[in-house]
Amino acid sequence: MLWIVITTSKCNLECKYCGGSIPDMAEEPLYKMEELRDFISKDKDAIVAFYGGEPLLKDGVVKEMLDILPAKKFVLQTNGFFIKRLEEYVHKFDTILISIDGRKEVTDFYRCHGCYDAAMRALNFLKEKNFEGEIIARMAVSYKTDIYKDVMHLLKFFPYVHWQLDVVWSNLWGLQEFKKWAEESYMPGLKKLINEWMDSIEDKPLGIVPFMGIMTRIFFNSMPIPPCGAGSSAFAITPEGKILACPIAYEFEWNLLGDFKGYKKISIGEPCVSCDYYKICGGRCLFAYKERLWGEEGFKEVCRVTKFLIDELKKYEGKARKFMDKIAYPPYNNTTEIIP
Ligand code: SF4
Ligand code: SF4
Repeated sequence: MLWIVITTSKCNLECKYCGGSIPDMAEEPLYKMEELRDFISKDKDAIVAFYGGEPLLKDGVVKEMLDILPAKKFVLQTNGFFIKRLEEYVHKFDTILISIDGRKEVTDFYRCHGCYDAAMRALNFLKEKNFEGEIIARMAVSYKTDIYKDVMHLLKFFPYVHWQLDVVWSNLWGLQEFKKWAEESYMPGLKKLINEWMDSIEDKPLGIVPFMGIMTRIFFNSMPIPPCGAGSSAFAITPEGKILACPIAYEFEWNLLGDFKGYKKISIGEPCVSCDYYKICGGRCLFAYKERLWGEEGFKEVCRVTKFLIDELKKYEGKARKFMDKIAYPPYNNTTEIIP
């Protein structure tokens, strides 16, 4: 299981698509560290990911958890501002995801002035420390994004790039704007990016996480559903000790699954289970499935874009099959949700 531990509700930033700190959630863990350790130790295959807010605002808590939690893998999602606080603890991580949205002007527009430089400083810190784990540039993709230019830009610096669409819950745009952008910018950009990826696949495949992950789902059965695992093989733990399915849908009742004493699971239903793309798409995102914030029309529009990406990748199934050993992804649930 993946356990996403929210070490704090606070964030030092207020990114446009997010809004910053989580209201009505504690600033630091209210449970005893032993309670968390005993709970995690029941899972022999535990992966622990630190999440926020900005988890490193509570770097002391993160370090203590790194010392005592019996996890097989540790993952960190951070905006990079405070990564130096980790010092040598950085080597305890298996994957570090740094939030950066692409080119400097795009990142700083969505996030804050100086955010791009902070993410780059964090990357350089990891390189100077000879960090041996995975480093992933984690993008949020919204209306300023040119998917081809922004992903190609990040691949100059980062070994892996992953993105999530800012749709459905977005503060930045509505369905009609998304439709236009998807048609005119995103879908043509994906085609160019897939060409670029396929050109690289024989030699050294570009680390484009959604492409690698979707291709893997095309070839293999029994992949997590939804791909992020929310509610079935991935759970978030709030600072109050509540167990959630999805770390960002904290205010919804369906998302509250229990606490350290016990929790239930939750799954995706219709229309996804009868959809021809279900094995690969997996219902995409539990939050978007449950809360149709852009209505049925919005749900179907996001599905249209997902199906387009899957169909474009399927065109290269034959060639990709030969290189599966190089592109199979993810090696474990490292919080990359696979379907953007
Ligand atoms: S494409 Fe849409 S309907 Fe089909 S599985 Fe994915 S989210 Fe569900
Ligand atoms: S993909 Fe959706 S359900 Fe999964 S963690 Fe992200 S927001 Fe939550």
